[in-house]
Amino acid sequence: MSIDQYTFADPAALYADIQPKKQRQPEPGLDAELDPTADLGEKTYRGTGRLTGRKALITGADSGIGAATAIAFAREGASVAMSYLPSEEEDAQRVAGFIREAGVTVVTVPGDLRDAAYCRALVAQTVGQLGGLDIVVNNGGKQIFNEDLTTLTDEQFHDTFTTNVYAMFWITKAALPHLPAGSAIINTTSVQAYSPSANLVDYASTKATINTFTKALAQQLAPKGIRVNAVAPGPIWTPLQVSDGQPQDKIATFGEETPLGRMGQPAELAPAFVFLASAESSYVAGETLNVNGGMPTP
Ligand code: NAD
Ligand code: MG
Repeated sequence: MSIDQYTFADPAALYADIQPKKQRQPEPGLDAELDPTADLGEKTYRGTGRLTGRKALITGADSGIGAATAIAFAREGASVAMSYLPSEEEDAQRVAGFIREAGVTVVTVPGDLRDAAYCRALVAQTVGQLGGLDIVVNNGGKQIFNEDLTTLTDEQFHDTFTTNVYAMFWITKAALPHLPAGSAIINTTSVQAYSPSANLVDYASTKATINTFTKALAQQLAPKGIRVNAVAPGPIWTPLQVSDGQPQDKIATFGEETPLGRMGQPAELAPAFVFLASAESSYVAGETLNVNGGMPTP
């Protein structure tokens, strides 16, 4: 019997043998360099046609949560446009390979989310090359820890908000004229939106903004047949965390504070995105789906 995301298993024991190791990569970090390797569902995600014929744009699709989502969407039958930074080409090409193997179209559009012109061009290129757009996943994000507000640079504060919040606004705004009724917008927020860490003041603030943006826009777009929702991950093993997302001394125990007692893997996030993208969540709008190992949320 082959193992897939439906295999019956103890969630506390699942992946428990994959221990995070102290390590540091320069931002944005690569999945290719992550040790141990993260599970993007390459070997396990089994599609059942839940997104057949759909057309998705995913930011930060080269690695981590975005990559697992891209692979899952493709195996569910969706064509995928991938956004990522030019320095992440190696990760992006690996994921693009899995998407092609699934028999759907993949478009790669490297660029910088801090650039409004890139965000608009990304949408235009996606629409042009996929022949439309009906799923937008605003997932790309920046997280750099800082222990003391007096040393938090204006540049970092600006960049974190531009990457996490402004890009979501620019991409969503550019996408809207193209989205037919039935479309889904999914934003990646975080448990940090309601349980902020002392050393993530700027990042946590962007995630609270994303949550509220999601809920407000959902009110506006539901009458038009477009559902806007969010996924809020807890501690997930991705390159973001080892490229100064956390101080080095936190990495070895990453995720142990959760009720499940371990960090999560990107593959465990993908089904949440698939659910919110698919028509099976037709009565779900303005929701934040928490995938965080059991930490209580409001
Ligand atoms: P990741 O590093 O694999 O993905 C983040 C991606 O953001 C990068 O791959 C990169 O392509 C993109 N990105 C960053 N800055 C960019 C820029 N200026 N221009 C273009 N792209 C840029 O890490 P991840 O953990 O999978 O992060 C995905 C999302 O999940 C982020 O929004 C993050 O805040 C959120 N999140 C992660 C965790 C976690 O524990 N890993 C927890 C909660 C929320
Ligand atoms: Mg990456």
